[in-house]
Amino acid sequence: MPTLIYSHPASLAHETPAGHPERIDRIRTVHQVIRSPHFKATIHREAPLGTEVQILRAHTEEHYQRILAASPESGFEYLDPDTVMSAGSLAAALRAVGGACAAVDSVLANDADNAFIAMRPPGHHAEANRAMGFCLFNHAAIAALHARAVHGIERVAVVDFDVHHGNGTQDIFWSDKNLFYGSTHQMPLYPGSGARSETGVGNIFNAPLKAGDAGAEFQTAMEDIILPALNLFEPELLIISAGFDAHVRDPLGSLELEEDDFAWATLQLMEIADTHAKGKIVSVLEGGYDLQGLAGGVGAHLQALLHGNAAVED
Ligand SMILES: [Zn+2]
Repeated sequence: MPTLIYSHPASLAHETPAGHPERIDRIRTVHQVIRSPHFKATIHREAPLGTEVQILRAHTEEHYQRILAASPESGFEYLDPDTVMSAGSLAAALRAVGGACAAVDSVLANDADNAFIAMRPPGHHAEANRAMGFCLFNHAAIAALHARAVHGIERVAVVDFDVHHGNGTQDIFWSDKNLFYGSTHQMPLYPGSGARSETGVGNIFNAPLKAGDAGAEFQTAMEDIILPALNLFEPELLIISAGFDAHVRDPLGSLELEEDDFAWATLQLMEIADTHAKGKIVSVLEGGYDLQGLAGGVGAHLQALLHGNAAVED
């Protein structure tokens, strides 16, 4: 079955101030990768608008109303020193929510094995009641809760290999034993959470890495902590928070992952999804701030999601 890619031009209208790392060029770069002849075996779909019902499964009404009220007609509105909205930001975020939920619908309806949401802003720092770290709504958490509410499955896992800890997903999943959150990330680093000792109700698995750690340490963290726990959890759907800022070239992190490491992690997760979830994976783009590193990471990840078949039709 094919790999779906969800995108929308709205991602190009979320403006951030000059010098902000989470910039429009990121998604231009991702669009070049996903539209390259190398990936012509993928099926492209336009993301629908996300809905209030979808968002309120993960966020408070207060948070949702605060984001709506902050949306500016022009210029920039700062939600915190890092997190900013322009006139196009709300639509971009709503499309990213809608894309993630539509991908869940398609994958669970057997339209595809897996799907990649090639959209911005990222989402994993957004907590139930707080926007932060460039994130307005938590697309991965919203997608997980959408799957449970609409498709009648119980156990959904999010695995996050962004260089930053997904405090938002951890926050939303914290007390629900049928939601799994596993994360590799650099520590210490923004947002400061993600210690091994943060375990929720036995459903949170943090595997912090230190500055300078590379593929070997990343693989050990995955093999020792995340993957065995994920296997025991037996997810019915696997969601990946796919950030590529752990790449060696990235200016925001100091891990030293390369393209092959992202491919390796993706293939490991696919194996577990094959065992427990009929191969069903929805992958959501998170960070990645060096354009070359981002392109390489997305390419390697997508190639893996295509079961390595991308190049066959070249
Ligand atoms: Zn990040």
